[in-house]
Amino acid sequence: MVAREMKGIVSHTEEKEKEMNDKRVCTGCDHRCEKKDVLRGQNPFKPSITVGGCPTCFAVDSMRYTCDEKDCWLSVTAGTPTAEGYKSTCNEHIPRRKTGERNESMGN
Ligand SMILES: [Zn+2]
Ligand SMILES: [Zn+2]
Repeated sequence: MVAREMKGIVSHTEEKEKEMNDKRVCTGCDHRCEKKDVLRGQNPFKPSITVGGCPTCFAVDSMRYTCDEKDCWLSVTAGTPTAEGYKSTCNEHIPRRKTGERNESMGN
C-alpha cells in the first residue's frame, strides 16, 4: 500500500485564514504581530495571488501561521482534527488523541 503524500504548497486562501489564530511571526526578523498588521499586496508576477508582507522588515511572504496554543509563537508544523475543530500547532502542542480509541496492533 502506498501512502499518498500531500506535499503541495499551502495557498493563503481566505478559508484557510478563518481556521487559523491571529498570531503571525516573521521568519525573517522574528517580528510578532497580529493578522491585521500583516501587509498585503499583489504578487507582481501573478496579480491574482495575494502575498503577505512583514510590517517591520518588509520581507514578502515571510509571515508564518503560529501555534494555536496561547502565548506560543512557534510556526505551525502540524494540523490535527479534534472534537473542537481543526487545531494547528507546533510539534510540542499537538493535541493528544483521546484515550479509549482502539489501538490497532501490528499483528500477523
Ligand atoms: Zn520581518
Ligand atoms: Zn506550540
